[in-house]
Amino acid sequence: MYHSKHFSQIFIVYLKKKPKRIYCYLTHSTNHTMKYTFFFLTLMFFYACLPTNQTEKTMIPSNTKTTEFALVIHGGAGTILKENMTPELEKQYHNKLRDALLTGYNILENGGTSIDAVEATIMLMEDSPLFNAGKGAVFTNDGHNELDASFMDGATQNAGAVGGVRHVKNPIQAARAVLEKSKHVMLTGAGADAFAKSQGIEMVDTSYFYTERRWKSLQNAKRKEGGNSLILSEDDNYKYGTVGAAALDKSGNLAAGTSTGGMTNKRYGRIGDSPIIGAGTYANNATCAVSSTGHGEYFMRYLVAYDISARMEYAGEPLEKAADMVINDKLKAKGGSGGVIAIDKYGNIAMPFNTAGMYRGYVKADGAVKTFLYKSSE
Ligand code: ASP
Repeated sequence: MYHSKHFSQIFIVYLKKKPKRIYCYLTHSTNHTMKYTFFFLTLMFFYACLPTNQTEKTMIPSNTKTTEFALVIHGGAGTILKENMTPELEKQYHNKLRDALLTGYNILENGGTSIDAVEATIMLMEDSPLFNAGKGAVFTNDGHNELDASFMDGATQNAGAVGGVRHVKNPIQAARAVLEKSKHVMLTGAGADAFAKSQGIEMVDTSYFYTERRWKSLQNAKRKEGGNSLILSEDDNYKYGTVGAAALDKSGNLAAGTSTGGMTNKRYGRIGDSPIIGAGTYANNATCAVSSTGHGEYFMRYLVAYDISARMEYAGEPLEKAADMVINDKLKAKGGSGGVIAIDKYGNIAMPFNTAGMYRGYVKADGAVKTFLYKSSE
């Protein structure tokens, strides 16, 4: 661009100084090559006069704000197949995803922050036994529930997370408290529980997290692990069901949060990607807000959430392309299964996953709630 601009300046000077000579040259010259050269130079001149950022613009295809605000959520990815579901269960998932989206929508519609919307949306899913977070958390190998959660504010890039809490009813609240009320980013175990309690967050007895479905899943996982050949197949759903949300508010601020019980049968104080900033959650007003779900060890090794933001920031990729590349190309090639939900500063939404299904949905300012369970748009 510099060269053509430079050239156009020289050409303008020439046009100004020698108008007659050019006219005579064009009308009297029989030399076609020279005529064509002149027209070529004229074309270049007009091209050079285009606004300087014209070519740069083509690198950012999706740079128009598509909505005043928006919210996107997931309820976990895994072997979610229609043949394994009943119509009743499908309905329950759709309804709960819808309730969660409407909760966040009302906050955003009334001018609330993306942080408030993400927290309220996730709390609603944590309170449902349908998801592997809060009430529906999976069991560890020794029969406990250890919960992880994280939160990130795209405006300040401040973040908070808790790992392995056992008494916090809604771990996403504790993650937000770490973000807003502490100097730290991540607290774990008994210390994280104590901090949450000190902040007035609702605490529960460990028995609150017991659900028969998750208890049975642990027994199945243990039997399978024990090499019992009678257990031929295991539904991967026992692993997944993490919840997450990402939102854009009316002020243009992004936020994301993730909450999980982790993976069934986990042991030795294992903590997954969900409370790791950059892996399970990421938000940056300049790029996007992301929440992940899937096999955490892979999401941690490949910093999935941050990688999407980095591709947008450094390579100028639009959200959808960046998210798709990371989940369906990079992660898949390494054997990592799962997906993300993501939103950019323009309100564009991406929900790629490389598993059979992912509980997911979104709502924009028009209020049309969309929820999906499988690969197809059902
Ligand atoms: N990512 C979570 C973990 O590894 C599990 C999930 O998303 O389902 O702890």
